[in-house]
Amino acid sequence: MTQVTDRPVSDRKAQLEARLVLLNARLAEIETELDSHMSPDWEELATEREADEVLEGMGVSGQQEIRAIEAALARIAAGEYGFCVKCGAEIGAERLDAVPYTPFCRTCAH
Ligand SMILES: [Zn+2]
Repeated sequence: MTQVTDRPVSDRKAQLEARLVLLNARLAEIETELDSHMSPDWEELATEREADEVLEGMGVSGQQEIRAIEAALARIAAGEYGFCVKCGAEIGAERLDAVPYTPFCRTCAH
């Protein structure tokens, strides 16, 4: 495939895979933390519930990012990485630097 950015796709792939490992580790930590919140004390429970909501929020956004990264890795494997899935335009290197797993060009992301 033709190279679409300044950086080789293998670089992007390594970056995405490293990020995926990090996210999976963080999600595992969040789950452990949630599981440990089994206090019978009501007041403490209320505080922990708030903390749990924050943790769960982090978990959800982490899972969304994981799915986006997995989709990006699939596009790399298919040779489609770096092109917008909506309009087919080339996604700029600067945009990929900021959001390496983005499936959209700058125009379609808005
Ligand atoms: Zn587009």
